[in-house]
Amino acid sequence: MAGYASWNLHLRREPRSWEEQQLQHLMQLLQQQRTSSDDDHWCWTLEKNGKFTVSSFAEFLQQEDRLLKGITLQNFPFKLAWSNKLPPKIKFFVWTVLQGRLQTAHHLVSRGMVLNTICPLCHLHDETSEHLLLSCSVSKLVWRYFTADNINTDQFFAGATTVKDVLSSWPKRKKDTFGNQLWSYLPFAIIWVVWLSRNETVFRGKPLDFTRICNQIKGTLWFWIGGETKNPGHHFVNLITDWSSLVAL
Ligand SMILES: [Zn+2]
Repeated sequence: MAGYASWNLHLRREPRSWEEQQLQHLMQLLQQQRTSSDDDHWCWTLEKNGKFTVSSFAEFLQQEDRLLKGITLQNFPFKLAWSNKLPPKIKFFVWTVLQGRLQTAHHLVSRGMVLNTICPLCHLHDETSEHLLLSCSVSKLVWRYFTADNINTDQFFAGATTVKDVLSSWPKRKKDTFGNQLWSYLPFAIIWVVWLSRNETVFRGKPLDFTRICNQIKGTLWFWIGGETKNPGHHFVNLITDWSSLVAL
């Protein structure tokens, strides 16, 4: 039947005092909605054509935050996450990490879910996003493999302890060369592939393989910068065999 519905929410826990206003707002929004007898379909209302875009979602969250005064996003490095030419799903992933919303074990426990919080890669520490992507012994090896010939990896990571730090203080290279393109996208590729590998381990029981992770990072970079079409004269095999000399300054 078409018309207004009445809502009876079953919350998992009592709302905290700072959430009550949000809950009221939600109920107001729900009560304004009319149901119709047409078939249901999904659409993204923030874009005129009904199709999802990451940028419309980011903008919406900024506005919502201003309205609801929940979290301020003033310090969020939007430029950093949106200005480069990364595929949308990677931008969304980076944004999730920078917002502290990556679904690591630590994050899920903080949301009230009970599970083991130990890092699935090293089995030694709590799996926070910073641990998993930067300081875990497995990720460290990966960062070291890709950067040690170009920067003092230990020194860099002593000063950059969050993903935001790493991305914002990543050594910039001005010339638009093949090697420099690889270098500028490298931190994004590393955190993305470490996250994918972690998921393969957690959800599919796939054992960790350092060489496979490194090759997947190289493949990801090669894909992002357009492969041989955009980089005539370069070959993927060189990324596999000559990484250090390709990205050398
Ligand atoms: Zn670990």
